[in-house]
This record gives sequence, C-alpha cells and structure tokens, in this order.
Amino acid sequence: MNNNIDPKLNWLKNIPKRAGDLYFSLCESKGNAIHKNEFQAYVFDAGLTSIDFRLKNFFEMLDSMGETINFEEFINLMNLGGLLIERALRGELAVPDFKKFSNNLDKIYDEVIDNKSGELANYIPPLAEVNPEQFGIAVVTADGQVYQRGDTNVDFSIQSMCKPFNYCIAIEELGLEKVNEHVGAEPSGRLFNDLTLMMRNMVSENLSSDSKIPFNPMVNPGAIMTTSLIKSKSSTTERLNYVREQIGKSIGWDSEGKSGIDIPRFNKNMARQENFKGYNNIAAGFLLMATGNIPYSDSTLPKDKLANDKYDYDFYFEPAVTDALKVYFSLCSLEMTAKDVAVAAATLANGGVCPLTQQRVFGQKTIRDVLPVVQTSGMYNSSGQFFQEIGLPSKSGVGGGILLVVPKVMGICIFSPRLDLAGNSVRGIEVARKITSKYLVHIFDSTMTDIDRVDPRLKIAKWRANNCGEAIWAASYGDVRTLEKLLGQQRDLKYGNYDIRTPLHLASAEGQLDVVKFLLENGVKPIPDRWGGYPISDARNNNHLEIVDEFLKLDIDYSEPFHLIEEPNGKTDKIEKYDDELAIIEFLFAASENDVDGLRQLVAKGIPINVGDKDSRTSLHLAAAEGSLEAVKYLINHGHPLSVRDRWGATPLDEAIREKRQHVIEYIKELSK
Ligand code: GLN
Repeated sequence: MNNNIDPKLNWLKNIPKRAGDLYFSLCESKGNAIHKNEFQAYVFDAGLTSIDFRLKNFFEMLDSMGETINFEEFINLMNLGGLLIERALRGELAVPDFKKFSNNLDKIYDEVIDNKSGELANYIPPLAEVNPEQFGIAVVTADGQVYQRGDTNVDFSIQSMCKPFNYCIAIEELGLEKVNEHVGAEPSGRLFNDLTLMMRNMVSENLSSDSKIPFNPMVNPGAIMTTSLIKSKSSTTERLNYVREQIGKSIGWDSEGKSGIDIPRFNKNMARQENFKGYNNIAAGFLLMATGNIPYSDSTLPKDKLANDKYDYDFYFEPAVTDALKVYFSLCSLEMTAKDVAVAAATLANGGVCPLTQQRVFGQKTIRDVLPVVQTSGMYNSSGQFFQEIGLPSKSGVGGGILLVVPKVMGICIFSPRLDLAGNSVRGIEVARKITSKYLVHIFDSTMTDIDRVDPRLKIAKWRANNCGEAIWAASYGDVRTLEKLLGQQRDLKYGNYDIRTPLHLASAEGQLDVVKFLLENGVKPIPDRWGGYPISDARNNNHLEIVDEFLKLDIDYSEPFHLIEEPNGKTDKIEKYDDELAIIEFLFAASENDVDGLRQLVAKGIPINVGDKDSRTSLHLAAAEGSLEAVKYLINHGHPLSVRDRWGATPLDEAIREKRQHVIEYIKELSK
C-alpha cells in the first residue's frame, strides 16, 4: 500500500500486458505507484462523475484508498470500474478528448451569454414570469460522460420538447404503420400552432385518399394526435404518468429508485394555464376530431343523459378529444433540468438505450423512424434552414429549451428562455451554431475534409495525425494512387506534420520521383520545414539528383535548413519501431502540443515510449523542440532515453537549444549530470 514497488519487478511479464500498460501509463514514473488524486482527475477529465451510479462501488473503493495506489489495488479498482473506466483512461469513450471539448463549450458559453435578444413566451403567466437571464448547456455522451455549465440543474417547462418522446412512445405502443395512418412525417414549413392539416395522398383501406392528417408529430396538431394514441383506454392521470415514466427511463430513472433519478415533475398550474389559453390547441384537437383522426368509440356517447329542461340539453364534448388535449397540455407542462433533457437526448443518440443505466427504453427501429422527423420538422418553420446549417435532429420548446441529438455520440440540451420569432431559444440556436462551426457534427459533415474543424469522436492528436499521416506515408512509400485519392477528397497535400514535414519533403528524402512530379503537377508548393529546409535539401542530402532538378525548375529562393548538433559523435540511444504508423504520428503530435493526456492514453495502449517516425523523430524531440515541459517530464519519467538522434543526428537537447527552450534545457541538463 505504498510506493515501494521495485522498479525492476517484472510485473509486465507476470500480468496481462493490457493491465500492465494501463498501470504504467498512469504511474508518475516508471515502476512507481499511481497518485490517487491524479487518478481521480483523469477519470473526471474524461467526463465521468462521482454521482454516476454505474461507478458507485468504484468511487467508494477509491475513496477508501490511501494517497497512492499500487498495482494490486489498481487491479481491484479496475475490477469494479470495468471497461468503462478502462476506456476512459485509454481515451476511448464517445468523446475521447472530453477535457478539450468541455473547454470549448465553456468558451462558447462565455461568448453566448452576452446575447440578450429575443422575448419570453408570454401567452401564459408561468412562462412569462421565468427569469429571462437563465442559461445552461448540458451535454451527455453515449457513454454517459457529462458536461454541465450554468443553469443545468433547474427545472424548466419542457413544452414541445415532449413531442419526440410522445412520438416514440406512440410508435412503441402501436407500431409505425398505425401511427402513420394518423400523423404524417412531412415537414410543414409552418408555425407550431398552425391549424393546417395536410391531404393524405396514400390510399388505405380505412380512409379515403383525400382524408387529412397532421403534417408531422412535431407541430401541435400532430403532437395532439400522437398524444391521443398513447394508452387511449386509460385515464388521463394514468396516461400522463405512463409518459412520465417512459421519459423517466430515458433519463435514468428506475422503478426501484436505485439511480436516485426522478421522473419529470408535473407542473399542474402550468397545465391549467395551457388549458385556459389553449384555444388554438383546442381548435386543433377538434379539427382532428372533425377529420376523423382521433379514434373514439360511439358507445361512449351519453345517449340518455338529457337535461330536464325541455329546451335545453347537455352540451357534449367527446372525451377522446378532451382527454387527448388534457394529456397534451400536461405533457407540455412537464419540467426537467437541462441535464436530464441532455440524458434523454443521449438516449435517442444511443439508439434507445439510456447511457446511464444501460436500459433499453425505445427500440432501435423506433429511434431510426423518429429522428428523421425530428430532424426535418423539429424546429417548426425554420426546420429546413436549421437542418442545412446545423444538420442535427433538434427539438425546441417555448420554455426555452432546445435538445439536439448527435447520433451515436451525444445528446445536448441548451436552456435559455428568450425566444426568436419561430419560438426557438435565441441563445440555444447560437450555441448550436457555434458547436457546428467548431466540430464536425452536422450529419453531412461526413462528406467534408475540413481541417479547421475537429471531429469530437476522435482525439485531437489522432485527428491531426489522420489529416496529414496518410499523405506523408503515401509520399514516402511512393504511393501515387493514395495521393490521387486524397487530392480527389480535396485534402490539402501541402499540409505538414508537427515538424512541417510535408509529403514533398518525405518523397524527396526517400527518392520518390513520381510522387514529387505528381505533387508539383497538382500545384502543391514546396514550403520550409521546422528547420527552414525545403524538400530540395532532402533530395540533395540523399543524393536524389533528378528530384533536385525538378525543384530547380521552380522559381523559388530556397533557404537552407539549420540543424544544430552539439556532439555529432556522442552517444546514440535506440529508437523503437511500431507497426501502427498513424499511432506514431499521433503520439508525436501529442508530444508537440504538450498533450500529456494524449501521450498517456497511447502509452496505455502499449506504444513504445521511444518510438520514432520516418525522420527518426521521437516524442521527446518534439516535446523538447516545442518547449512542452510537462510532456518532456512525462516521457523521461516513463523511460524515454535522452540520446535519441533524428535523421540529421540531433538529440532532444539539441532541439531544445536550437529553439531556445530554457526550461527544457535546464531540466534535461540536470538529468544528464
Ligand atoms: N404548449 C405549447 C403550445 O402547445 C407548446 C408549443 C411549443 O413549445 N412550441 O402552444
């Protein structure tokens, strides 16, 4: 239970390599123990929280431990944390760089909070009286990573955000075919309270071809319609509670109360106000009755209940429609926190399984049927534009909430009550816009090769590696076909790696004349690398004279690279090889950006610490050249040798000296004493 693990203890031989690599990556230094506080910070940085009930036992055990964790204790902990903790530590959760992602969301929050435009919904007092300044962003990933900022734990009225869930629940109960008979899946391009119903142009046995149904379940007539289908034989209270429980399951509620999460609260006053002022919705309900959409049975007609007066009779409202309206008003009046809505959205993103409980709430097929309708109609009359711009299934409510679903990745809820003219939260829309301008999450971003934005599904270092790695390796191997493909994808082939070594540099160093010609013909310009060297120097140094001639044809004033090598004949340490070439590039990118988490996660996956790229550059060269002291320390503490030499013979210390990285120079010199 202390640090006294013998550094030479060959635990790597006796225990599974996987666990060993993970433990090694987390230790402060080789053969040492893990610091509990740091370990906890890694888990939190990955987006997992101590209130996550999946991790209850794990955190209890962690709490009971001393300041350091030895290997045996680590294995016990991992037995409780399971694959979830392991994946978190290896950077393999739905959003692997959760810390960076959170920092970016913080920035977005700080930018958007100044936007005070828009008006509160004012058609009923309980909405008109909310604090307009409220603002919260919550994100929950398919792996249950949680981000929260601002007012994410206050209840607010979900209003129309109930609609996707009602639609799911109706489909689960009756099947898509039946539901489709009553409500369409066509965008209406209309306001949520529009009373237009569309002509039905499909012929079915029961309905004539010109019967009318609501456009879709996201506008009010459609939502009232779907509500009328849910548990239609039960009392309104039972129906309301049934939906609360279904939504409850999607936010992690369980009937035994294990998770400590409650079903959505019902605001009765809100529902009554909706009822008092809800003439438009009442009209929509009766329209649905008139068009024969709301199912009811004639037997409920009170045939002999006539009033006594000879001129009077009891005015009759069919309960099928008043009940549907009552349940609809009630569902709009449910209250949830932004965090809970984000979990519910994550359940949709996760194919119907709540990421916090792993319970299936809706069938996969239901989700696949519902999300397209949310995508095309969820933002009312701005749905088309929203789809084009943001490209995510989204649903807003006049309570100020917007939920967004990034399929397979995450659910997002933004809450801020001031609304635009279409009834969508102003700040909510702005946040959504900023998220898509930073991250490749628009569903059609899969066709983009945009390197200014980042894919949240990938680690930053991996993302960078992907963007240059393939071209660089293809160039050095003479693989023109791959370069053709990349060019066709509009990849920027002049883009270099962490040393601004570009495909042209590598092709020149390796004597790949065809590649050099191909790149030049396609307009790729030679640019200087980290040392001011152009590809022509690589060709010259490696005696590839035909390539030198190619570059001389261009009208460029080539500077010479400056490499500093203090002791060319000094000691030389071994550089390791590794099969996964992209992982090497990723590792070196992480080192250059002082991304210690990125380094740690690759070490956890078993990458040799002193692995080198095509120029024999190692992570330590990069960390030293960039002055990334934390990365330098991590690498050296984990056994990176000091006297590795790159293609030109330079050691990491040479690099630090050349780039004048004083802290790094001092640190390495101190060690070499
Ligand atoms: N209760 C509101 C209504 O039916 C819901 C509308 C909304 O949130 N867009 O009018």
